[in-house]
Amino acid sequence: MLNVSDYRVSYGQSEIVHGLDFTVQPNEIVAVMGRNGMGKSTLMKALMGVIPESGGAATLDGKSIFGKKSHDRVNQGLAYVPQGRMIFSSMTVRENIETGLTSTGRRSVPKDLYDMFPVLLEMRNRRGGNLSGGQQQQLAIARALASNPKVLLLDEPTEGIQPSIIKEIAQTLKEIRDQRGLTIVVTEQVLSFALEVADRILVVEKGKIVHEEARSSV
Ligand code: ATP
Ligand code: MG
Repeated sequence: MLNVSDYRVSYGQSEIVHGLDFTVQPNEIVAVMGRNGMGKSTLMKALMGVIPESGGAATLDGKSIFGKKSHDRVNQGLAYVPQGRMIFSSMTVRENIETGLTSTGRRSVPKDLYDMFPVLLEMRNRRGGNLSGGQQQQLAIARALASNPKVLLLDEPTEGIQPSIIKEIAQTLKEIRDQRGLTIVVTEQVLSFALEVADRILVVEKGKIVHEEARSSV
């Protein structure tokens, strides 16, 4: 269970996340929606320890993650796919996935990882830069899953993805959640994707949750 309370993130003097409170249950998929510049990426980066938090508390399964370094959070079970899906274009698919093991004690990727992404198994010796946008997004997600996380933070996975593939990504995420008992927090601007994938939608405006809607119970 991921819990944040009175969670605050600032860049210098300007506070972007203004005291958020929410809890994500095990196996739940929560979509955080909000307009451009509302602080979605800021929230995800802060939860992953990529940028500092400025106030409040954050726990994963009752243990604080607040203020910790990114690699400590990975070891506590968090994983993150940044917006714009950074992948290494000159590395092969397999090498890209293996970079997800850095800073974890694991030496090999979970056995079932390629079962979740058959396309990546087929293309594992291909360079990351030679994949389509949708395949690169799958690769970025697979890399994050290499550390076998409990909670996956996904920042705008549909950005730059064709509408026809968006539904596929939602389907894959739900299957992975079911198979692995994964918790997913996903930021999103595409309502149809959020409706397809999420059990619950949080709408954030000006760094605060202004609306919450349950899609299904877990
Ligand atoms: P988008 O939907 O475009 O991805 P977002 O909701 O993810 O937007 P953020 O990237 O979190 O928004 O940005 C929130 C605010 O913080 C914006 O006003 C942005 O200009 C500002 N911001 C982002 N990064 C920095 C930074 N490194 N330093 C200062 N301000 C920043
Ligand atoms: Mg963003």
